Amino acid sequence: MTIDIDWANLGFDYMKLPYRFIAHFKDGKWNDGEITEDATLHLSESSPALHYGQQAFEGLKAYRTKNDEIQLFRPDQNAERLQKTARRLLMAEVPTDFFIHAAKAVVKANLEYVPPYASGGSLYLRPLLIGAGDIIGIQPAKEYIFTIFAMPVGNYFKGGLAPTKFIVSRDFDRAAPHGTGAAKVGGNYAASLLPGYNAHEAGYSDVIYLDPATHTKIEEVGSANFFGITKDHEFVTPLSPSILPSITKYSLLYLAEKRLGLKAIEGDVPIDDLDRFSEAGACGTAAVISPIGAIQNGADYHVFYSETEVGPITHQLYNELVGIQKGDVEAPEGWIYKVELD
Ligand SMILES: *Cc1c(COP(=O)(O)O)cnc(C)c1O
Repeated sequence: MTIDIDWANLGFDYMKLPYRFIAHFKDGKWNDGEITEDATLHLSESSPALHYGQQAFEGLKAYRTKNDEIQLFRPDQNAERLQKTARRLLMAEVPTDFFIHAAKAVVKANLEYVPPYASGGSLYLRPLLIGAGDIIGIQPAKEYIFTIFAMPVGNYFKGGLAPTKFIVSRDFDRAAPHGTGAAKVGGNYAASLLPGYNAHEAGYSDVIYLDPATHTKIEEVGSANFFGITKDHEFVTPLSPSILPSITKYSLLYLAEKRLGLKAIEGDVPIDDLDRFSEAGACGTAAVISPIGAIQNGADYHVFYSETEVGPITHQLYNELVGIQKGDVEAPEGWIYKVELD
């Protein structure tokens, strides 16, 4: 191994691994792509990705099982979401088979950097699709670059399964009512950098965004979806066209109902009705499940289950989800893709 890694203390930081996958779209079609050691993109200074934000990304993880097998969690869902994002931004779509082939190739090339089973870490894959080429008018690119790089990661939010506090943003939204909130694009993140920075400076993990039209309902966290557990054993998560549809969230909706016997509900989550929840959390590939200990909502500081301990149902959901991802718990049909190691 060329990079020394402290597996037990991985956070969520970029690490330049030896290999990544890159493919180019030109004259209406994708080339075969290849694994490369070159970690630098070469692109025209006029690329639409740089000027007009014509770019999209994804995030998924590879896990090492107890038996040293390597598996991906629902990569077909990431491929489909990237296609949906591409259609919203008039970009070339990456076919699902091609996406999964590229993801597996990157994992195989960087196999020794998939964290050991016992470390609790995983290999995070970052697919990136950008509009490139010599074009300066406001129009979609004719050329695209699709790349996937990888890095070993541990916890995204500092606490891991320890609850952290979040703050509601009213001065800033991450997305417009009919904008690109449901597309996984950098522009939404550019809009969230300032409120995110302010939240961190004030000691919060991240921002809770409200629906941009009325500011009365929870939408999501800047980089993860929101869920709450009601006192009546319901798993509730917001439904809105400007939320990024989290694959983790949809997986939890399924598991909450089928495995934990909760009632799974996608619906409105009024910010002034947090009392209904006994537990709350943020979920996403990077965040996994991050318990929300408390939400600062204007002058109101609302504590959920506890500010120091994860709630019992959130913990059960975590065990079920992570158990499936690491191969310890039987997965629903089609959720796990093994990486063939020859
Ligand atoms: C990627 C992302 C999520 C989480 O989605 P997963 O598919 O669960 O990783 C949530 N919110 C935003 C804004 C995101 O970009």
